[in-house]
Amino acid sequence: MKRILVCGAGGFIGSHLVRQLKNDGAWVRGVDIKNPEFEESAADDFIRGDLRDPSLCARVFDLRCDEVYQLAADMGGAGYVFTGEHDADIMHNSALINLNVLEACSRSGAGRVFYASSACVYPRHNQNNPDNPQCAEDSVYPAEPDSEYGWEKLFSERLYLAFARNYGLKVRIARYHNIFGPRGAWKCGREKAPAALCRKVALLPDGGTLEIWGTGEQTRSFLYIDECLEGTLRLMRSDFSGPVNIGSEEMVSIDRLAGMILNIAGKTALLRHVPGPEGVRGRTSDNRLLREKLGWAPVRPLAEGLALTYAWIREQAERDKI
Ligand code: NAD
Repeated sequence: MKRILVCGAGGFIGSHLVRQLKNDGAWVRGVDIKNPEFEESAADDFIRGDLRDPSLCARVFDLRCDEVYQLAADMGGAGYVFTGEHDADIMHNSALINLNVLEACSRSGAGRVFYASSACVYPRHNQNNPDNPQCAEDSVYPAEPDSEYGWEKLFSERLYLAFARNYGLKVRIARYHNIFGPRGAWKCGREKAPAALCRKVALLPDGGTLEIWGTGEQTRSFLYIDECLEGTLRLMRSDFSGPVNIGSEEMVSIDRLAGMILNIAGKTALLRHVPGPEGVRGRTSDNRLLREKLGWAPVRPLAEGLALTYAWIREQAERDKI
């Protein structure tokens, strides 16, 4: 039986990943500073602790794992990452986690190590045109991420690649593009656009006013959690180390995203654009390298994942009212 460690197992992607790995028959240890918010962890062993602490890392890595998935990070949506208020914490906390985890992976002889990087590494200057953003993997240098979160991800990508080069660690690096789905942050201030808009629409009376940060013309693509997991596992078990994009190529404006959610909810609304953190003007996944190296890319239409996510958030919002 494979022994697998998931760091960040209490988070959105981590808790889904643990369940998937358990379904696939592995023995799974999860570690996180918090328990999963919306369900019991499916892990065989869940250690609650702070990965910034090297002594906790030593405890977590007291066995040799065939696979380690490193998803733990201090992160959130635009309201957390782009205001500037959390920059020091984001860089310091996530860098410490990655330094500790990598050292422990190397010492304990981990079989393979997956690192969750982000589309936020791509340079601002290639993402000024909302209709034609450039996010091919090799466009990342010269570097100019638009957030400290992106700079930390880029630093840590290099850290993982350096450990691969110097210590023979087998690393796999994915650059996730906006992952969404049920059981993700939806109201704590760390939520991303799909969850925030699903919440606003769920709470909106029919014909009400829906507030959107920025012009609404900024574009993004969003990947449903199931295909994120599929891409992650395919990459981990391939011979390609990356970095490679794991995202959708179905790019929509934020106004269009809001329209799709309203349509799912069967509501109408007046869109009101208000000042707020927006990030780059356009961003979407470029899956050419993914297709070439893995012979696979996500295909699920955005509307399908949104319908599942909206239903879950509406249920949470209704439960909150009781
Ligand atoms: P998340 O915030 O739900 O999960 C991250 C987890 O890390 C949280 O449960 C958090 O408690 C844990 N954590 C933070 N600090 C810790 C510490 N000091 N010790 C132990 N655990 C700690 O985020 P997510 O959406 O599940 O993202 C998982 C990974 O994927 C992150 O590295 C994130 O940067 C990356 N990523 C996510 C997206 C996305 O759209 N969700 C996009 C790009 C990259």
